[in-house]
Amino acid sequence: MRVLDTRGRALRDVRISVTDRCNFRCVYCMPKEVFGRDYRFLPRRELLTFEEIERVARVLVGLGARKLRITGGEPLLRRDLEVLVGRLAALGDLDLTLTTNGALLARKARLLADAGLSRVTVSLDSLDDAVFRAMNDVDFPVALVLEGIDAAAAAGLPVKVNAVVKRGVNEDSVLELARHFRGTGHVLRFIEFMDVGATNGWRMDDVVPAAEIVQTIAAEFPLEPIEAAYRGEVASRYRYLDGQGEIGVIASVTQPFCGDCTRIRLSADGKLYTCLFAVRGHDLRALLRSGASDTELDEAVRAIWERRSDRYSELRTAETARLRKVEMSYIGG
Ligand code: SF4
Repeated sequence: MRVLDTRGRALRDVRISVTDRCNFRCVYCMPKEVFGRDYRFLPRRELLTFEEIERVARVLVGLGARKLRITGGEPLLRRDLEVLVGRLAALGDLDLTLTTNGALLARKARLLADAGLSRVTVSLDSLDDAVFRAMNDVDFPVALVLEGIDAAAAAGLPVKVNAVVKRGVNEDSVLELARHFRGTGHVLRFIEFMDVGATNGWRMDDVVPAAEIVQTIAAEFPLEPIEAAYRGEVASRYRYLDGQGEIGVIASVTQPFCGDCTRIRLSADGKLYTCLFAVRGHDLRALLRSGASDTELDEAVRAIWERRSDRYSELRTAETARLRKVEMSYIGG
């Protein structure tokens, strides 16, 4: 049965992190200086098993969730991920998707599609190889990510491409990305640089506002806004007037959308977070591993959501930006 939080928002969209590890070190998410050789990632025994993830997902679906997004870190680093996809796909008529940096996608796309994945989102911040290699900070080439996108499309998976835009780093890549993905059927979305976590050195000056991104593209390819497909859709969408598809912008900084936020996040070690910018989470793993019944789990999750009042982006200040917020690489975007 649907559950509402203190602002009347229904629980609809679940982000499931299956690992806190990644094979990239994107400067806006997992800076190498922090996530270096000595960084203590979660040991395997602390990760939720696929059975445990499936149990939590079943409870969340029972409370109204209709969209499950598998994230990380980099989710394709988790072995046999297609097994989890199969388990989640069996939970019902859901929008089951995955966000990946694309590095391993060419190898995994067919397996994921066959297991029941609905679609995939690939992060690609630039087509300029030097810029991209600098942003992922592990010298990984654009070409291999594009190969992953092609493999996903060949496997029949609808593809969205996400690009985080940071001033002074890749704003010159915006138009190049739009030119490349127009008419391909892949939906390109631009994300404002956000003050996620406490390690990416976020400053407002480094944010390229969504309005500026849209203007840059519209100057060459006229656009018109599209209605949101459902309450809580994250991206503001625009279609090309010449029919060559659409783009989206995710403007958490300059156009906050907390009022319609229907998202909850499950970390790889079993904590529930009710906001991307939360400081603390709610431990479900202890419940799961202490023999709690599904009813007890349901009651615990329901109580967490019913007490929810998050609206971080509406309240963002220079001070809040410095809070020790949970790392995005730990709970997924
Ligand atoms: S800041 Fe938190 S409450 Fe607001 S939209 Fe993002 S996740 Fe939702």
